[in-house]
Amino acid sequence: MQAYINTYEDMRRRLKAYGYYAWLVGWDQETEAPKGSIEYRTKQVGVMAEEVYKLQSDPDYIEAIEKLYENQDQLDADFKAEIRQMFKDLRIIKKVPKEEYIAFQVLVSQSTHVWAEAKHKDDFNLFLPTLEKVVEFNRKLVKYLETPELKGYDILLDMYEDGFGIKEYDHFFNTLKEELVSFVKEATEKKERFSRKLTKGIFPKDQQKAFSRYLLDVFGYDLNHGVLKESEHPFTSGVASIDTRITTHYHEDNLASSIFSTIHEMGHALYEMQNDPKFDDTNIHGGSSLGMHESQSRLYENMIGRSYAFWQLHYPKLVELFPKQLKGITVDEFYRFINQAKRSLIRIEADELTYGLHVMVRYELEKAMINGRLKVADLPRKWKQLMSQYVGKRPTNDREGVLQDIHWSFGAIGYFPTYALGSAYAAQIYQAMNKEVDIEQAIAENNIKAINAWLKDHIHVYGGSKTPKELMLIATKEPFNPNYYVDYLKQKFSV
Ligand SMILES: [Zn+2]
Repeated sequence: MQAYINTYEDMRRRLKAYGYYAWLVGWDQETEAPKGSIEYRTKQVGVMAEEVYKLQSDPDYIEAIEKLYENQDQLDADFKAEIRQMFKDLRIIKKVPKEEYIAFQVLVSQSTHVWAEAKHKDDFNLFLPTLEKVVEFNRKLVKYLETPELKGYDILLDMYEDGFGIKEYDHFFNTLKEELVSFVKEATEKKERFSRKLTKGIFPKDQQKAFSRYLLDVFGYDLNHGVLKESEHPFTSGVASIDTRITTHYHEDNLASSIFSTIHEMGHALYEMQNDPKFDDTNIHGGSSLGMHESQSRLYENMIGRSYAFWQLHYPKLVELFPKQLKGITVDEFYRFINQAKRSLIRIEADELTYGLHVMVRYELEKAMINGRLKVADLPRKWKQLMSQYVGKRPTNDREGVLQDIHWSFGAIGYFPTYALGSAYAAQIYQAMNKEVDIEQAIAENNIKAINAWLKDHIHVYGGSKTPKELMLIATKEPFNPNYYVDYLKQKFSV
């Protein structure tokens, strides 16, 4: 046993070092690197990727993971969780024929480009043959990976959210369908009007930057272990608890965008920064799952950052930075502005109330495609139908419909549902936390530290050592229950 542990740990140490370099290059590419450096960088990254592949497919390394998995009862709990995850990842190398897997990698390395062109030209037929291949590969993949317990779309869902398959998601989305679809129609009926200053104002970047800096302080984002930069699309990128970086994007015609993307990414970052540092050198640093990660970003963004208590305290600072633009606008009007619910077409711009329904459309379409009940060619028509059924708004073109998201183009089917799940986890976690910490009071007293501390002890500290189901039990003392989410939304959007 010890020999296998030594082999595994030695290889992990080397892979971590390579991973660190790749991470730095990736960060540089998204934030600082001049455009003209791309070809040179791609060449170097390619060489590095070959070296990493050699290490990852080393028979001794694979054997070590398999043996440790067979003898997992002799391992301590954290190491066992790590080995189980590594073994799960090995399935693809072991069960999918190498040529097919490589062909798929080549396909998705080019398909994002094809998708971008199709979206730009609003021409689904340009993307159709590529998307058909992506779906075809995923349908074959689930055949290779199926087990007596998991089949079809279940396999893909479980890849992105451990322990969540069709049964769990059907229950979740059916709850949203029953409780929210008609509620959204009513809640979006009343038209709110806002000062043109909010919708048409110009908010200079320098002041927006100053407010983002101010937010870092409010939320306790530690600049000793993090960095805030700008990128086209905001993201979080961490390598260990001691270095977790975020980006935002400043739109001068949209004040809310940078505020909420900064808070959102800070939520992701705090999760990783508050991991137990003992995970830094392991493969279970980070979050429990995509859904759990998203729960943290959305809890900070929506449940804290869009709360009335938050703006009662911090709105004066915003007015100080934008005295002309916000002149005459009360905190109540600003609060209503950042919490307006409306039927919209674009998922990433959707409000908190309608967001889950946008995801539900994608869930149903993916399920039908993988089951073979829906042809890829019929997607645009079916998309429009479901959007008008659930969100109450029908796209008139595919750019604002089926072509809006990048995910399918890089091969990810089964990923979308984790976004909606994250918001639902957040509602349940908020309820549990509120029994021990008076959240509104903490926000009002500028004591977000107290919230960070609770989340650290109940979620963040565990890193990736618990599955999302285990973590929900630890943090909230009950299994996942989507009713918390529905109740939260109905309460917030009824007033
Ligand atoms: Zn996120």
